[in-house]
Amino acid sequence: MSEKIKIGIVGSGTMGNGIAHVFAIHGYSVFIVDISKEILKNAISTISNNMQRQCNKNIISNDDMKNALKIINTSTTLESLRDCSLIIEAVKEDINIKSEIFKKLDSLCGEKTIFASNTSSISINTLSRNFENPRKFIGMHFMNPVPIMKLIEVINGEKTSKETTDLIFSISKSINKIPVECNDSPGFVSNRILMPMINEAALCFEEGIATAESIDQIMMLGMSHPMGPLKLADLIGIDVCIYILNILYNDFNNSRYKPAEVLLTMKKNNKLGKKTGKGFYNYEF
Ligand code: NAD
Repeated sequence: MSEKIKIGIVGSGTMGNGIAHVFAIHGYSVFIVDISKEILKNAISTISNNMQRQCNKNIISNDDMKNALKIINTSTTLESLRDCSLIIEAVKEDINIKSEIFKKLDSLCGEKTIFASNTSSISINTLSRNFENPRKFIGMHFMNPVPIMKLIEVINGEKTSKETTDLIFSISKSINKIPVECNDSPGFVSNRILMPMINEAALCFEEGIATAESIDQIMMLGMSHPMGPLKLADLIGIDVCIYILNILYNDFNNSRYKPAEVLLTMKKNNKLGKKTGKGFYNYEF
C-alpha cells in the first residue's frame, strides 16, 4: 500500500538528504524542498556520492542507484509538496521556522497528508498546534547517518492518532528501518539518556579524572559502546549537545542537566567538534 505514495521532505541538509536517499532507494518518489537551488544541487550531489559509495561496497547495484536518482525531485517552494501523502520536515532546529513551514503545509495539503518532524528536541505536542488536525502529526526521529542507522524513534504526541502511528510504522519498515515508539517528553528517549551521558563524560574530562581518549576507551571496552561519548559529542556538534542539554535543563527544571563548563568554553572558542576541525579531538579536513 505504502510503496507508491509520494514522500515530501523539507530541508536537504545532513538529515534531509539522508532521508531522501533511503526513501528513493526503496522506490518511493521523493520531493525535496529547500530555500535555494544551490543548496538543492549540493544535496543531490551528496546523495549521489553516498549512493556511489554504497555501490562500491555492493550494498546497492548501479541500477538501484540510477533508478533512485531518477525519482528524486527538488523544488524551492512548499507548493510542490501538495500531493505528497507523507511530508517529513528536517529543517534547522528552530521552532519558529518549523512552525511557519507546518502552518503553510497544513493550508496547502489535503486531509489525507500525514506530517512528521525529524526534530531532535522540540516538543511534538507544541509543534502539533500548527495543525488543524493534530491527529495526523508525529515525530519521526531518524538517526545520523540515515542510510546506515537502523532506528527511527517514533514520537507520539498527545493527539497523534493510532492510524498515523501505524502508518509510520509500516512505512518505516518498508524502508528497512526499525521504528520504536515513545511518547512526547523533553529529549524523547534517545537524547534524554544520551545527553546526560555525554555531559557526565565532559565533567570527567573537566575534572581531570581521565583524558578524552581514556574516557572513550573505558566506555567502548567496558560497556561495548561502538564509539566513546566524547567522540560522539564531537560528531553531533558541541553546540547541538549544549542546545539539547539546555532543553532538558529548562523543561525538567533540574540542574543535573546543566551543560558542563568545558562544553560552554569549547563553544565559545568555536571548538564545536568534527565540523570545525577541533573538539575533544582534532580533525583534518
Ligand atoms: P542542516 O543544517 O544540515 O540542514 C537543514 C536544512 O534546512 C538546510 O539545508 C537549510 O537550508 C534548510 N532550511 C532552513 N530553513 C528552511 C526553510 N524555511 N525551508 C526549507 N528548508 C529550509 O540540519 P540537520 O542536521 O539536517 O538537522 C535537521 C533536523 O534534524 C533538525 O531538527 C535536527 O535537530 C534534526 N536531527 C539532526 C541530527 C543530526 O545528527 N544532524 C540527528 C537527528 C535529528
